[in-house]
Amino acid sequence: MCEPKKPKRILMGPGPSNCHPSVLAAMAEPLVGHLDPEFLTIMDETQDMLRQVLKTRNELTLPVSGTGSAGMETCLCNLVEPGDRVLVCVNGVFGTRMADIVGRLGGELHTVEAEWGKHFEPDAVEAAVRECSPKVVAIVHAETSTGVRQPLEEVSRIAHEAGALFLVDAVTSLGGCNVDADGWQIDAIYSGTQKCLSCPPGLAPVSFGPRAMEALEARRTRVPSWYLDMTMVKKYWGADRTYHHTAPISMIYALNRALKVILEEGLEARFARHRLNHRALVAGLEALGLEMLVAEPYRLPMLNAALIPEGVDDRRVRKALLNEHNIEIGGGLGPLAGRVWRIGLMGHSCTPQNVMLLLGALEELLKAEGAPIRPGAQGAAETVYAEA
Ligand SMILES: *Cc1c(COP(=O)(O)O)cnc(C)c1O
Repeated sequence: MCEPKKPKRILMGPGPSNCHPSVLAAMAEPLVGHLDPEFLTIMDETQDMLRQVLKTRNELTLPVSGTGSAGMETCLCNLVEPGDRVLVCVNGVFGTRMADIVGRLGGELHTVEAEWGKHFEPDAVEAAVRECSPKVVAIVHAETSTGVRQPLEEVSRIAHEAGALFLVDAVTSLGGCNVDADGWQIDAIYSGTQKCLSCPPGLAPVSFGPRAMEALEARRTRVPSWYLDMTMVKKYWGADRTYHHTAPISMIYALNRALKVILEEGLEARFARHRLNHRALVAGLEALGLEMLVAEPYRLPMLNAALIPEGVDDRRVRKALLNEHNIEIGGGLGPLAGRVWRIGLMGHSCTPQNVMLLLGALEELLKAEGAPIRPGAQGAAETVYAEA
């Protein structure tokens, strides 16, 4: 049988990102059993490192078997019972997905919306909370469909003053910018391995604080998903080690390794690296004449949405980037389809070399498209690096 190609791409889209070679190597290590004492040590170590990266002391902190969406579904299906009022803040694809899940769980869904590309002002959330008195307020920290960074501290205060649980999607933010689960009093938080943690897709770190644990224990009904029921999953990850489902051993090896890479770099140094490469990329894009979708204070460093210039063929440019330059970037979703490019600078993919390669390639391809661009993208990025 002829093996299909697995090209070595430069992944600069909305995920997955490239992995450190040691993370890929970890996945090729021999398997052990899921109750092997050596594996239990790896589990404990992984949970401990996840707590450091999430900045939490929550006991229930573990990687759910499944991608980021499984983390989303875990938080919601454990905390929402039929008839519970849930306020979801929707300003992109992932808020929309949370709202979809709440509906499937039989929760009483309330939404507050912001335009795609904009963040939520605390006042808007406060008004919505006052209107529906929800059990849970759910919001996306880093909206990958638009590149918006949502400040969380005020929203957390508003949720708690109304007696609600505060639930946060940190799939794209974790490992790329500050996520302070305890400092921001987040009750339940989920992430995914394939974005700024730079590990293959397949696990969803989740953490529940004391208030979320209380809500879980006070449920009137059983958690509707057997697989994602934290009352059972936590017994395998806790002292009991009761078999629930077979842990994805190789994925946990990979996450363990990826978390070590992150902590060896240091969280603050890693965030600074993301900010610097982001500033260089934006300087280069703006030098070309491209505009960013999101206002500067609310831009994510790891996901850059740039408006596609008038008359340029979105698909042709992305196809040429992939086929001629080996670079993947993302297109727009929903109302932004055909209007923006989403350029990821996530984890191991976030390097000056990748920023320079992409800017050079884009300049060449946009010229070929006949777009009215100005030269000098790489020079503008170099200036940012030189000044840093
Ligand atoms: C990618 C992403 C998800 C979903 O993660 P999958 O790994 O694709 O299941 C959820 N929320 C946000 C903000 C994301 O960027």
